[in-house]
Amino acid sequence: MLSRRLKALKAYKTETTQAKIKLSSNELPYELPGELRSLISQELSKAPLHRYPDPVSQELREVVGDFFGVPPDNIVLGNGSDELIYYLSIAVGEFNQGVYVPVPTFPMYEISADVLGRPKVCVQLDEKFDIDLEGSLESLNLQKAVLAYYSYPNNPTGNLFMRDRIEKLRDRGLFTVVDEAYYNYSGESFISDALTRDDTVVLRTLSKIGLAGIRVGLMIGREEVVEEINKVRLPFNITMPSQIIAKVVLTKGREFIKYSVDRVVAERERLFRELMGMEGVEVFPSRANFLLFRTPFRADEVHSGLVERGVLIRNMSYLPGLDRCLRVSVGKPQENEAFLEALHSTLRELA
Ligand code: PMP
Repeated sequence: MLSRRLKALKAYKTETTQAKIKLSSNELPYELPGELRSLISQELSKAPLHRYPDPVSQELREVVGDFFGVPPDNIVLGNGSDELIYYLSIAVGEFNQGVYVPVPTFPMYEISADVLGRPKVCVQLDEKFDIDLEGSLESLNLQKAVLAYYSYPNNPTGNLFMRDRIEKLRDRGLFTVVDEAYYNYSGESFISDALTRDDTVVLRTLSKIGLAGIRVGLMIGREEVVEEINKVRLPFNITMPSQIIAKVVLTKGREFIKYSVDRVVAERERLFRELMGMEGVEVFPSRANFLLFRTPFRADEVHSGLVERGVLIRNMSYLPGLDRCLRVSVGKPQENEAFLEALHSTLRELA
């Protein structure tokens, strides 16, 4: 019999509409350069694909550790950080103990809790999209939680929560997961806490820096925590091709990553200014590789207007507090230009 817990749930839906310009999933807009692709092909052609991959991804953990500046023994790799979110929801506390999530945010935190039947304490962010500390403490008095998830910067609002609010909530006994998927665009981190405290871990991913297709994410934590998560982890969760490709790109592709990230950050600022200047548009400051904005019109109408003009972004208006909001990933300059033009003409048509 299938679980009653799952009856009320819906499968995770991502945007699958086809469009010429795709600015809907916060990927890096730049494809890997030819030299890197050739190196990858060479390495893949030598790979013993009839064998299982290294179950502990030893070499890749060393390379990832060097890239992010942490020892390999403090790292668990996941099939995307999504997998690690599941593992943390399984490993921290008991299934009858609560999970605290400030919302609106990345949906996987709630989904993983729901699948396991864990109670949730979801507290609406304040008007600046920061954590409502008072409201959260009140809610946590009514319903206890032992695990907290923070998207830092927050997807989809783009801002960094105030550090001391996360710390104050942690003082209440919450095991704290700081999801730094957009770290390369924000530069702000809880890594030093993750390496020194038993109640804090950091998540990072390669998905936002050019490798969304190979599904590699990482958790950084103290060795004692890493050991426990490894008991939950599936043995061969990082495929051999993923291990090979990630190793090549994180050793030989560093310049490409840095150059691309710098360009995206510069474009984010330009796009922000352009949206600020657009009549009727309210745009929110971002430390990530996307921007959230609100228009006077229904978000599904704006979304379809853009799709008709060949540009796909994400409708965020279904999330609590994000009425009439959409999220656009920062693309290449010419993609951002096409988006701005399409938005301009869509808004004119709807007015
Ligand atoms: N965390 C956040 C905050 C995200 O926005 C995303 C992707 N949209 C993820 C995690 C998932 O990353 P991955 O591709 O590593 O599973």
